[in-house]
Amino acid sequence: AKELGRDGIVQFSSDMAASARRKLSRTDELRQALLRQELVLHFQPQVDVKKGRIVGAEALVRWNHPKEGLVLPGDFISLAEETGLIVPIGDWVLRTACLSAKAWQDQAIGPIRISVNVSARQFQETGLTETVATALKESGLHPMWLELELTESLIMKDLVGSVAKMHELEKLGVKLAVDDFGTGYSSLGALRRFPLSRLKIDRSFVENIPHDTDDMAITSAIISLAHKLGLEVIAEGVETEEQARFLIESGCDEIQGYLFGRPEPDTIFLAAITNCGR
Ligand code: C2E
Ligand code: CA
Ligand code: CA
Ligand code: CA
Repeated sequence: AKELGRDGIVQFSSDMAASARRKLSRTDELRQALLRQELVLHFQPQVDVKKGRIVGAEALVRWNHPKEGLVLPGDFISLAEETGLIVPIGDWVLRTACLSAKAWQDQAIGPIRISVNVSARQFQETGLTETVATALKESGLHPMWLELELTESLIMKDLVGSVAKMHELEKLGVKLAVDDFGTGYSSLGALRRFPLSRLKIDRSFVENIPHDTDDMAITSAIISLAHKLGLEVIAEGVETEEQARFLIESGCDEIQGYLFGRPEPDTIFLAAITNCGR
């Protein structure tokens, strides 16, 4: 039994070493990916319900891996976050997103908003405000067309710190949105302390429409309360006509999801807007 136990430990630690090695080489690969320009942004339309057209896009990063093909953020963002690589990656995302939005606007499709995800580490580290300011300046994009998406759990972690940071960003003239709203158990009242423009209702609520009457009640309550607090509301993960109809009837301002378009590369997104008759 003793032998077995020792073997067990040896086995365990060599597994750990192997996994640590894998992680190191994956980190290295990701660092190279950034330099070799293997990262790409895809853009998913955000549709204004009243205007009936695309008014914005969320920028979503992908890794165009030479051997593995298109790798989704779920497979590398947490490693990037853990190793700090998210900071240079986040810089790149911000710069690229602003440049794309400016280029679209210059191609006379009219004003369009770009939403960029900000991770915990990016938000907590100093320098984000400067990075955002630089991305705006270098692209020439007017700040009012840039929105930063911060998750509910992130901003609730350190209320005082988050409020201060968000005021810094707001002073630049950019918009701030709470991503994945409804998953962090914070009250809408708590959100009053933040300089926010809108809430993004998490897909987990949307996916249960029209089967879960509780989720539907919560969703429509969130929308009307948010409006009373002067916040706009967008719902994510809208896949069916039924979901869209319910959200529109509940007063949701904008909708994003496969029903209206999947995340697509720059040129395909641009073609989609042009076809929409903007
Ligand atoms: P998220 O911010 O909640 O982004 C929405 C995710 O839902 C995206 O997955 C999008 O492709 C997917 N989605 C959109 N519409 C639908 C739909 O109708 N149905 C379903 N089932 N899914 C839908 P994606 O692109 O794989 O991104 C996953 C997460 O990775 C994002 O979640 C975000 O947290 C993170 N992420 C993506 N890009 C970036 C980035 O540039 N920086 C940072 N820090 N995080 C990013
Ligand atoms: Ca998001
Ligand atoms: Ca989200
Ligand atoms: Ca989500």
